[in-house]
Amino acid sequence: MRDLLGGKGANLAEMANLGLPVPPGFTITTEVCTYFYKNGKSYPPELEADVNAALEATGAIAGHVFGDPVNPLLVSVRSGARASMPGMMDTVLNLGLNDVTVEALAQSSGNARFAYDSYRRFIQMYSNVVLNIDHHEFETILDSFKDRKDATLDTDLDAADWKEVIADYKAKVAEMLAEPFPQDPKAQLWGAIGAVFGSWMNPRAETYRRLNGIPASWGTAVNVQAMVFGNMGETSATGVAFTRDPSTGENLLYGEFLINAQGEDVVAGIRTPQNITEAARIAARSEKPSMEAALPEAFAEFRRTTALLEKHYRDMQDIEFTVENGKLWMLQTRSGKRTSKASLRIAVEMANEGLITREEAIARIDPAALDQLLHPTIDPKAERKIVATGLPASPGAASGEIVFSSEDAETAKAAGKAVILVRIETSPDDIHGMNVAEGILTTRGGMTSHAAVVARGMGKPCVSGAGTIRIDYKTEKMTAAGVEFSKGDIITIDGAAGQVLQGEIAMQKPELSGEFQALMGWADAIRRMAVRANAETPQDARIARQFGAEGIGLCRTEHMFFEGDRIIAVREMILADDEAGRRKALAKLLPMQRSDFAELFEIMSGLPVTIRLLDPPLHEFLPQSDEEIAEVAASMGVSADALKRRAAELHEFNPMLGFRGCRLAIAFPEIAEMQARAIFEGAIAAGKQTGRVVTPEIMVPLVIAKAEFDLVRATIDQMAQTVAKETGETIPYHVGTMIELPRACLRAAEIAETAEFFSFGTNDLTQTGLGISRDDAASFLGRYTAKGILPADPFVTIDQDGVGELVEIAAERGRKTRPDIKLGICGEHGGDPHSIAFCEKIGLSYVSCSPFRVPIARLAAAQAALAKKGD
Ligand code: ADP
Ligand code: MG
Ligand code: MG
Repeated sequence: MRDLLGGKGANLAEMANLGLPVPPGFTITTEVCTYFYKNGKSYPPELEADVNAALEATGAIAGHVFGDPVNPLLVSVRSGARASMPGMMDTVLNLGLNDVTVEALAQSSGNARFAYDSYRRFIQMYSNVVLNIDHHEFETILDSFKDRKDATLDTDLDAADWKEVIADYKAKVAEMLAEPFPQDPKAQLWGAIGAVFGSWMNPRAETYRRLNGIPASWGTAVNVQAMVFGNMGETSATGVAFTRDPSTGENLLYGEFLINAQGEDVVAGIRTPQNITEAARIAARSEKPSMEAALPEAFAEFRRTTALLEKHYRDMQDIEFTVENGKLWMLQTRSGKRTSKASLRIAVEMANEGLITREEAIARIDPAALDQLLHPTIDPKAERKIVATGLPASPGAASGEIVFSSEDAETAKAAGKAVILVRIETSPDDIHGMNVAEGILTTRGGMTSHAAVVARGMGKPCVSGAGTIRIDYKTEKMTAAGVEFSKGDIITIDGAAGQVLQGEIAMQKPELSGEFQALMGWADAIRRMAVRANAETPQDARIARQFGAEGIGLCRTEHMFFEGDRIIAVREMILADDEAGRRKALAKLLPMQRSDFAELFEIMSGLPVTIRLLDPPLHEFLPQSDEEIAEVAASMGVSADALKRRAAELHEFNPMLGFRGCRLAIAFPEIAEMQARAIFEGAIAAGKQTGRVVTPEIMVPLVIAKAEFDLVRATIDQMAQTVAKETGETIPYHVGTMIELPRACLRAAEIAETAEFFSFGTNDLTQTGLGISRDDAASFLGRYTAKGILPADPFVTIDQDGVGELVEIAAERGRKTRPDIKLGICGEHGGDPHSIAFCEKIGLSYVSCSPFRVPIARLAAAQAALAKKGD
């Protein structure tokens, strides 16, 4: 019932139904939140009576009465939306305490220190969350009190001390609000409920929703729950745990707790938390006792409970708990956030354990998150100048300039810089800075601190709790190991080792784990579409094959034109005055292209390779500097001035829509002739090398009409015959076209009469379909997505309504003429999971993307196939 009760409320109810020890309570549903915002921030009329009845029932189970001066029920008020939003909404603990009930709590617990500690926590939390008074005000009071008393830790203070602090706190509230801290428990409760609903629309919650695509209409629920106390003494504790390691995915109970503590003490990094299990304590070489050693009975029950929860939810759980006088209480469970690496390992191991199916394992991995696994770590051979060590909070490594605020992170990122966000600790206000940083470094906080949790979710490296670093926000400097760093200095963090290193350090490409290979294998067995890569260099082709590409979907021949001396020959060709001059230059290029193609065909060893004829406007290759011009002029035997004049003639106002694509082959068939010859001769050579027949797919770019395609096709067919005659070899090949202009989509039925395949060039199709130049879109496109005019950047995720329909039209018309026509996509969209899902929907044969995205596409294609099956 997550939609109605929110994640937290639904899971609390579920745990209670399972018979687990959950403090009693009730949930005000998300529907009330929706009502609240629809009705000028007011409640449904029946709510008050319902809350009173539920409070009574809760009190009856807990054995207390809300507001009773002798036997008071204390509650927590906790927000909980449908999707988990860590740290977004504020929880109020110990609600119901006032000057009278605190005495009752002291009496009934026989622990006055505990009662007054709880009361001061309540005043501070309530004042912050509900009354909007900054935490800082209370921290200042507490710090100066501790100074006066020569105390360092909260636990050094006794009941009398807390009474004094409370008096100061209350005075502060009265001073700031011009009215006293509310003493009436009912007023406290409604204040807290209103604050939870109110916080749904606060800026940090809105930022989180925006970053995570959560609609504002969902609303949050409010959970009111009887308090249990982890701050009652040495046999009480509070903690958080994961049923498996959220960094590595290892199947081990993993977590942190603090004796004699409450609520978020563990997460806030106030004291260094202790390990839950002995094994973890030993591994961490910690001297502080584990929960297993300190609270053995509660631990045993906890271990049983966590195992049961994981089985029940069939996923790794993130659990919050409290031990009150040796008795375990469960306060929350949810699917745990994890790194990509962990997510992969957990999914594969759970499938192998039989807990989930392989299909579920596939569905659980976010294809985009695989990106993270394909990202660099520090080269083990590189020298490391370690300046500090903290906790390995989120794996991966990153280098960047130091910034000390999220604002500076955004500014630097906008200026094209890589930054590491360095903070004493992070808060939800830092989400926008964390989002643009390459990595995050904090000097306080544990493995479950805000920084650690959010960084893992974002897939960014994070080192937390690097306590030896001193940060001075005012001077924008930090010192570590005696070295002073200023804002803008470069550091590297290693989130797997928890290290902070001076300068930039050599990185290494990741190694693909066994789990990765296993999951990819399962995905391959399920997907229908083939996955190819866009590659032209031998190196890219090799990476593509390593990552499992089943061919090349797009080889951009012009990329082969830039290397070494070739560019001179290319320039000669472009600048030649006549066909004879062009042919002379093309003759120099032929052997180079032939050997390139031969090598590519060899690497791909019989897999399909689609080669696109020369596409970009010629001026892109022109010499720019005087030196370059002189070089080409000498090689051609013409004057530099003449050459400059010729180059100026090639100027175009709008090259994207100018003399490019097959227009080049129409005007200068000899270019297409040379390329076709190089392809056929290269194919024969590679076929001999590998013993596998190469069937090149030759692709004509930027076609708008069948007649145009036919002209280029004739040149290619002619060359095939010529080469066959010369070599005595028959060459199997296909000629098809790139569909990348709206007119081609509309004329697809005719074009398919002679074109054997279509490859959708969705980059140009997006530019021409929307009339938006990708290179000029930056200045306005952001507003289009922000205002919801377009659902996403159409250059990243295919614009289904517009460009998508053009693709569908072309696919349908092409198939009508040629039912077995091969249809693929080779724009950037070929590596985008949403676009891949669309390709599956309309039945394309393959997607082609950059080599590093091949694994993402394999997984996304499998998920798309599963989703289609499920429809
Ligand atoms: P968040 O959504 O930020 O995790 P929670 O509502 O889970 O906030 O509350 C934070 C912490 O407060 C919990 O992890 C738990 O330690 C403590 N807490 C909440 N409710 C209770 C309760 N009824 N009794 C004791 N501790 C509680
Ligand atoms: Mg929390
Ligand atoms: Mg919680």
